[in-house]
Amino acid sequence: MKHDFDLVVIGAGSGGIATARRAAEYGAKVGVAEFDRLGGTCVNRGCVPKKLMVYASHFPELFADAQGYGWSLVKSSLDWEKMITAVNDEVTRLNGIYQRMLDNSKVEILQGYGKFIDAHTIQVGERQVTADKILIAVGGRPVKPEIPGIEYAMTSDDIFHLKQQPKHIVILGGGYIGSEFACILHGLGSEVTQVIRHDKILRGFDEDLQTEIQQAMGNHGIRILTNSQLTKIEKSDTGLLVKVRKDGDGEETIVVDAVSLAATGRKPNTQKLGLENTKVQVDDNGAIVVDKYSQTAEDNIYAVGDCTDNINLTPVAINEGRALADTVFGNKSRTMSYENVPTAIFTTPEAATVGLTEAEAREKYGDAVKVYRSRFRPMYYTLAGKDEKTMMKLVVDQNTDKVVGAHMVGTGAAEIIQGVAIAVKMGATKANFDATVGIHPTSAEEFVTMR
Ligand code: FAD
Repeated sequence: MKHDFDLVVIGAGSGGIATARRAAEYGAKVGVAEFDRLGGTCVNRGCVPKKLMVYASHFPELFADAQGYGWSLVKSSLDWEKMITAVNDEVTRLNGIYQRMLDNSKVEILQGYGKFIDAHTIQVGERQVTADKILIAVGGRPVKPEIPGIEYAMTSDDIFHLKQQPKHIVILGGGYIGSEFACILHGLGSEVTQVIRHDKILRGFDEDLQTEIQQAMGNHGIRILTNSQLTKIEKSDTGLLVKVRKDGDGEETIVVDAVSLAATGRKPNTQKLGLENTKVQVDDNGAIVVDKYSQTAEDNIYAVGDCTDNINLTPVAINEGRALADTVFGNKSRTMSYENVPTAIFTTPEAATVGLTEAEAREKYGDAVKVYRSRFRPMYYTLAGKDEKTMMKLVVDQNTDKVVGAHMVGTGAAEIIQGVAIAVKMGATKANFDATVGIHPTSAEEFVTMR
């Protein structure tokens, strides 16, 4: 049976666009359904605007550090509206680039919300299209916890459009997005209180990394309320009254000037897709169930990226999508490798990681695990007169001498770990690290000199 398209992708985010372009390169006729702006979460309300705001948040620190190097005091103030406008202008520029990339690849953009009529038919706005293969790449969205008054809380999506800088903000949640926003807003000059359920932020990351970042955030002036739950938000004449219950320590009311931010979790966008008209299956959180080839229970339907709730990162969505296009349209069967996926946390200080945490390695390799750790004040902070520390850590399986995990907290961590990740992915041993000559003077050289 002849279809309108060889492939229709639902969702023009990181995974959807990567798959569409790669499939089109192989000669497939491709359509992409999107109801919002091109680029998805990463470009419009994730990695890109966030990283621009991270850069913005670092300037006061740089101005202060400069004095130690002989510069006179810099008195500068933030024009919040100007910053938000600049960030959103850059996002709009990127939307245009995505449009041109898809046009150049001869991918047709189907403007509207995509919904399954059956396994080969999609309703997009007023139009019905058929496709031989369909990719679901609809991403996820932030969810708000059920707390009285939660309607007064923003999500991470809203922060990029705030008209005014909050003077005092409560951030709910200790995940990487919540922690990053705590540091961004603090760096930009807001007073920040972060409320987390456990005793440490960044659950799931290496414990040394959690401790190091949490301590540094505290030293910088971010108040982190651990083992605490937000129980209620009320609107009052003085602002929002945020009630926080601390385990075994009563309740505290924090008055914030205007807003609080919910950064508590995300859910796949699969509820209104018409999946009931297909054999596609979802788990309890609404994530689409796929095999290692990103194939769902319906033979011709695939899913990649955050809607499968596997590793929710842009490069993962892109890699899954390209592997899928290579397999299905390029006759090069391959799967995405989920081992040793590096990732960064753009807090201040920054952190990055690849491979196993120390705890994971101990569970897997027991007593054979050896940990190399280094904690020092980087040269930059000596003249700046600050007691900022960098922490680096290698986790080694002594049975094979392989480096199974590398973790860093400190300036440049993301850039440094990206390079280290290649070595770890290739199965480098500690002896290989030791045999590598350092670049002096850098912080990175510590990774090849740890004893
Ligand atoms: P998305 O990029 O979310 O794209 C899905 C698209 O589908 C959207 O455009 C949506 O409008 C569209 N859509 C949904 N339903 C339909 C429908 N029915 N019909 C038509 N279109 C539909 N990752 C990193 O790697 N590094 C980071 O630093 C980073 N920072 C982040 C910061 C924040 C605040 C957030 C929220 C996320 C961050 N991420 C980061 C995660 C990253 O953004 C996601 O992993 C990535 O965007 C997932 O890509 P995707 O293609 O699966 O989905």
